[in-house]
Amino acid sequence: MEIRPAVVPPLADNVPQASPAEVSRLLRFRKGLDFGGVDTRATPGFEGDKLAGRAAHVLDNEVLSDLQERLFANARTGKFVKALLLVLQGRDSSGKGGVVKHVVGALSPHGVHVAAFGVPTEEEASHHFLWRIYRELPRYGHIGVFDRSHYEDILAARMHRLVPPKVWKGRYDTVNEFEESLADSGIDVVKVMLTISKEEQAERLRDRLERADKHWKFAPSDIADRENWDAYTEAFQDVLDRTHKDHAPWYVVPADRKWYARWAITRILVHHLERMDLAWPTGSFDPEAELARLEASR
Ligand code: AMP
Ligand code: MG
Repeated sequence: MEIRPAVVPPLADNVPQASPAEVSRLLRFRKGLDFGGVDTRATPGFEGDKLAGRAAHVLDNEVLSDLQERLFANARTGKFVKALLLVLQGRDSSGKGGVVKHVVGALSPHGVHVAAFGVPTEEEASHHFLWRIYRELPRYGHIGVFDRSHYEDILAARMHRLVPPKVWKGRYDTVNEFEESLADSGIDVVKVMLTISKEEQAERLRDRLERADKHWKFAPSDIADRENWDAYTEAFQDVLDRTHKDHAPWYVVPADRKWYARWAITRILVHHLERMDLAWPTGSFDPEAELARLEASR
């Protein structure tokens, strides 16, 4: 019986591109990294243009799909306790929704669980801030995706002065302990901070205002948040500094070029899934004997 190995795809049109492990290394947050100083137009690990980037991403989707199927198949055995949780954070219009659509959208919906977190509802607000998060965790064998997350309870809470500083500051430890408990239970937490320039955001918000089909993505509060650009930069920096852990690393992804961010995140996911060493589960039957029975039944 043929077992397909998890492979890195061939180079798209011979465009030099870094391996999943290398892309992950390049984008992984490091102590001392200045978030506000990141070149948001850069394409670390990819030397090619938009067309080449899109082509490479299409090929990568195949690899990611294969790995996801392995994850899913293993969970069907009932004794498998591994899942992956992708946490997406970033300013308004940084491309979180696009990642859900183009990266996660390439996977079989069977094994994916997506949750978007907006302003807490009355019921959510009447619970511990992790209550709504727990309810959306991926089951084993699944890839979970959070479009915003528990980090809003630090970021939005801080920027919009929703709770006293003592409260949101205390959440760094709470979140670190929470994510450590996830890692201990087999959930690989991969956190992505998308970063765009102020100019790029202006273009994207203008587009949202000028196009009727994009009005639903716009909120007047986006402009207010934009006016606090530097304070947000500081809040993101603090989140990175205080919650980047080996068991739940942050990746800082330049996102002015949407195609790059999507390619890079796919590679990061491939890297994390490859590290899970996902073999195809063996059946509880003898395939040769079953084949013989099948033939006999013709
Ligand atoms: P969007 O992602 O564009 O749909 O916007 C969702 C909005 O909900 C953003 O402005 C977030 O800051 C806000 N939000 C998400 N989670 C929280 C939270 N825990 N507390 C306050 N605001 C939140
Ligand atoms: Mg928004």
